[in-house]
Amino acid sequence: MQLIFEKSVEGKRGIKIPRSDVPEAGEIPKGYQRVKAPSLPEVSELDVVRHFTRLSRLNFSIDANFYPLGSCTMKYNPKFTEQIAGLSGFSGLHPFLPFLSEDLVQGALEVIYETERLLGEITGMDAFTLEPLAGAHGELTGLLLITAFHKYHGQPKRYVIVPDSSHGTNPASAAICGYEVIIIPSDKDGCMDFKKYKERLNDEVAAVMLTCPNTLGLFNPHIKEIADLAHKAGALMYYDGANLNAIMGKIRPGDVGFDVVHLNLHKTFATPHGGGGPGAGPVGVKKELASFLPVPRVIKKDEKFVLEENLPHSIGSIAPFYGNFGVILKAYAYILLLGKSGLISVSEHAVLNANYIRARLKDYYHLPYDRICMHECVFSAVKQAKNGVHAIDIAKYLIDMGFHPPTMYFPTIVKEALMIEPTETESKQTLDQFIEAMIEIARLAEENPQMIKDAPTTTPVKRLDEVKAARNPDLRWKGE
Ligand SMILES: *Cc1c(COP(=O)(O)O)cnc(C)c1O
Repeated sequence: MQLIFEKSVEGKRGIKIPRSDVPEAGEIPKGYQRVKAPSLPEVSELDVVRHFTRLSRLNFSIDANFYPLGSCTMKYNPKFTEQIAGLSGFSGLHPFLPFLSEDLVQGALEVIYETERLLGEITGMDAFTLEPLAGAHGELTGLLLITAFHKYHGQPKRYVIVPDSSHGTNPASAAICGYEVIIIPSDKDGCMDFKKYKERLNDEVAAVMLTCPNTLGLFNPHIKEIADLAHKAGALMYYDGANLNAIMGKIRPGDVGFDVVHLNLHKTFATPHGGGGPGAGPVGVKKELASFLPVPRVIKKDEKFVLEENLPHSIGSIAPFYGNFGVILKAYAYILLLGKSGLISVSEHAVLNANYIRARLKDYYHLPYDRICMHECVFSAVKQAKNGVHAIDIAKYLIDMGFHPPTMYFPTIVKEALMIEPTETESKQTLDQFIEAMIEIARLAEENPQMIKDAPTTTPVKRLDEVKAARNPDLRWKGE
């Protein structure tokens, strides 16, 4: 296969640069001139189209295949929201425009203002910032808000409590904010051990960070008691909203005692993700924390939207400009498109789909927590591992069968974990195909384990040294 650089022929062109329609600025000063022209491939438009089309086919995408990655909500996002984000009235906005005059961006500011309100309604929070650029960034922002809150009340604190099933970003964000992390083990039902939680809770705890449903896809029935106890001890409740897809319209974190939430717009609200972004991790708070929110804030003054920069208690700016506006816009369009009943049915179908898979596969794979699940279910490949077939082998074989593997080896408290989140956007036919593939793998693990261990056989590269691939990626064509 020839790469684009190898197709290069001197003098070949794919574009015609239009004549300049602005006055020429004269010579570029010497120090800024290129010493040597960059060596770019010289190719036709067709060469470029074929190059990128070929690359796109090497990529595993939700537009082409089922992608049941757990804890990530890799759902299909309607193309409609992309069209909205592409409207030139939005996409052509320069981020400096509001500094010239807010009158030039009233529509965009209204989108931010209204999205904050809609997310507040969905989560039961009083105020939102849409600035954080990812879930992890939202966690950092939320913990900075919590720190500011405790400081303001003259009670700086030392610890953050997380359960051992939590996403790695939770303890990491707490540590970055300077907290010591207390990890509470899970009980036999897969929830944070309530007794151990009570033992470890004390008046130096700043926050209890929970994902609910948690990363095992399980809802914690003690959530209200956990929150009440935290509040009694002077701690705040932090809701990691990565799994909001399971509960929209059913329960609001703000109604069961959470004080701060982050959402992942790129999981629940119609921004495709993977490949590192862009995403958005808005943070919502109860009114007691609203004055600490980052600036600028969009506020409404005499029927006009303005950006407020001077808020004395604010933690300051945490992202350039106003966050990832295109992502916010897509979430806004998605919420309006679905409406209340639509969002409720998203959660209902996400949960139904996960339970369908759970019920149909539990005779073939070990189910460590055999309860009704929410939007995802976690199996363990311990049965298959007895024949030498590990979670990673199952994942590779699924690729050959045309499915993206589920999340593996997470949460870490489940041995040989296979964490499956089908999402609401998949049909019963697709789920059945996936289930049949998983049953076939379970059969092969008994009868011909080597076949699974040899996978993948259909991909351009076979098994990688995954540590080396992550630590030492070889991404650039060097012309060798
Ligand atoms: C994805 C995820 C995060 C982190 O969110 P990013 O947007 O990837 O930074 C945090 N917690 C849970 C449970 C998640 O699934």
